[in-house]
Amino acid sequence: MRTITHWINGETVAGSDTIEVFNPATDTAVATVPMADPATVEQALQAAATAAPGWAETTLSRRVQPLYRLRELLHKHRSELATMISEEHGKTLDDAAGEVGRGIEAVELACGGPALSHGMTSLQTGPGINTKSVAHPLGVVVGITPFNFPIMIGLMQASVAIAAGNCFIWKPSEQAPGVSVRVAELFAEAGLPAGVMTVLHGRQEVSEALIDSPISQAVAFVGSTPVAHSVYKRASEAGIRAQALGGAKNHMIVMPDADPDVVADQLTSSSFGAAGQRCMAISVAVVVGPDAGPLLEKLKPRAEEVVLGAGHVDGTEVGPVVTRAAQQRIRKAVADSIAGGATAVVDRSAEDPEGFENGYFVGPTILTDVTTDSPAYTEELFGPVLVVLRVDTLDEALELVENHHYGNGASIFTRSGAAADEFERRISAGMVGVNVAIPVPVAAYAVQGWKQSAFGNTGLNNSGWAFYTKPKFVTSRWDSVAGQDFGFRPN
Ligand code: NAD
Repeated sequence: MRTITHWINGETVAGSDTIEVFNPATDTAVATVPMADPATVEQALQAAATAAPGWAETTLSRRVQPLYRLRELLHKHRSELATMISEEHGKTLDDAAGEVGRGIEAVELACGGPALSHGMTSLQTGPGINTKSVAHPLGVVVGITPFNFPIMIGLMQASVAIAAGNCFIWKPSEQAPGVSVRVAELFAEAGLPAGVMTVLHGRQEVSEALIDSPISQAVAFVGSTPVAHSVYKRASEAGIRAQALGGAKNHMIVMPDADPDVVADQLTSSSFGAAGQRCMAISVAVVVGPDAGPLLEKLKPRAEEVVLGAGHVDGTEVGPVVTRAAQQRIRKAVADSIAGGATAVVDRSAEDPEGFENGYFVGPTILTDVTTDSPAYTEELFGPVLVVLRVDTLDEALELVENHHYGNGASIFTRSGAAADEFERRISAGMVGVNVAIPVPVAAYAVQGWKQSAFGNTGLNNSGWAFYTKPKFVTSRWDSVAGQDFGFRPN
């Protein structure tokens, strides 16, 4: 069993109040992780506060050197990190390695900090007057991350925060906490000074203690919508800035001219991949046209053939969900939905793969005849469950998305430029795909959402520079200073 520790002031710190971390494929404990007590939270905050002034004064170019080296170390340790993620989260090794890759992209973006984070100057905003804006680091900032991307989200937050001159305190999910400390160790190996990166484990109480501390200047949160909203409110109460990204119910609109084989392949991977535990997973397919039957005929065999199993076993396509509680919640939602009148085109929700009967598995499931007021449609199930609806027109499909309280992602599959254009313009979601099922923007753009999928107005990655700095506007005039007449006046 691994012992996971906190990471404070450049070293590991053990704790006494520990909980176990389970391998979701086997239901066996693989690690223990401490939940920080108030004294440890304070120790972490003080260490970060002590490091903050020096880090803010470090030159831009020096600040990004550890990020360049971290990039190399993440590549070098990619398979070790992927193994740890797969063991604690359940996703396949390939998927976990892909996640590390998306995290590396975030680090690469932040290496461009000196070019990406700067202010502006305007000359002659008045006679002999110049006005400029400069971006100051905030100081100590907090990142609270979800279980489903144990390394990627933390790297998206920390890389920009640190490059922008802040000290970052990471509170990862207690369900998959192992890699966060490895990242902190690799940051240290890359030359990041002590106190600039901190990892503190815990649950609600630790998040709240960090937000409430007068040392914290900002909180970036990613997780479920109810918690995102409560973090956002708490940060407002504390008077600090917050961005809080929440849950999702992502729709794919399938136009009559879309290639059904391509759509069926894309739906199979985007709805069932990572056991549906991606914030950009497609959980609703909206078929535009008289009959969803032909698409369902293509989808059914694919869903039936998906290989369910442990993430580390060769050939596995879909691993378990993260906890027993999640497994029971999703299985119950499927059963309730069927009892309420939905039709199961495929129902593998109660399936346990051979040899892993104790794991937290939920197999790919496709439901039709789901009403738009039922929980299977309104709620985020966060499992491999796809709801298929049918409508007559693109207008109706767009209206469905408009009326849903989530607005994280959406996509359309079509060969019509006009339909794609209409969709792009009218769709009410923050990350949108045209013939791309999971349109997570590359790091040069932002990960963000609309409606109940995000609170606060900036996202992860390249839009983070504004979040992690505070602007100052300087208006200056030198031509009138006594004794400073150089015999020159601007015209
Ligand atoms: P969660 O909301 O349960 O937990 C997220 C984090 O908040 C964890 O670190 C947890 O320890 C902490 N936490 C839990 N309760 C808290 C509370 N009351 N106050 C403060 N902190 C608290 O989410 P999860 O189950 O870990 O992650 C899955 C959710 O994250 C899904 O809803 C998914 O859609 C969402 N998600 C969204 C995005 C996005 O970009 N919008 C990305 C990834 C995941």
